[in-house]
Amino acid sequence: MNYKGHCITNMGILLGTVYTAHKLMPTTHENLGAYMVGFALGTLILSPDLDTFSRPYKNWGVLRFIWWPYQKSLKHRSWLTHGPLIGTLLRSVYLLLVCALTYSLIIYLFKASEIHSVDNLFSQYNFNLEFSFTKNINIIAYLFIGLEISALGHLLADKASDFIKLLRYRF
Ligand SMILES: [Zn+2]
Repeated sequence: MNYKGHCITNMGILLGTVYTAHKLMPTTHENLGAYMVGFALGTLILSPDLDTFSRPYKNWGVLRFIWWPYQKSLKHRSWLTHGPLIGTLLRSVYLLLVCALTYSLIIYLFKASEIHSVDNLFSQYNFNLEFSFTKNINIIAYLFIGLEISALGHLLADKASDFIKLLRYRF
């Protein structure tokens, strides 16, 4: 299925799941917001189709190069990219590793430059680098659920479009 088709089916799933969650298991607006953000990111830029030269890959713009090793080392529609749960887990871990490496590189470069100490520089711009995982565990969980449900929507749409293609070929 193409990008537009995935966006339309996922939009339907998002509306359906948000409505159901709102009716059946009332949750905070914060958690629901995190779910919607995760779902949107999973559809637009963290889709299982990052394993091929796709629109979600192009949506990364100049940063698309960070997905190049991922794309080149994994086969399109392999279980590691299109498998339930494992696909989302792998993409999340991969992106976190890229962020951690970039962060370490920035710290290293600032330390090497010896112009300012890193602490002074960040406090100068009021940049708060502290992020409490235990404090924000709910937000992270809902963000991840959003990513995963959008991926499941993608997988179902892929299967459905394969099935329709097969029917067309047979009849
Ligand atoms: Zn796909």
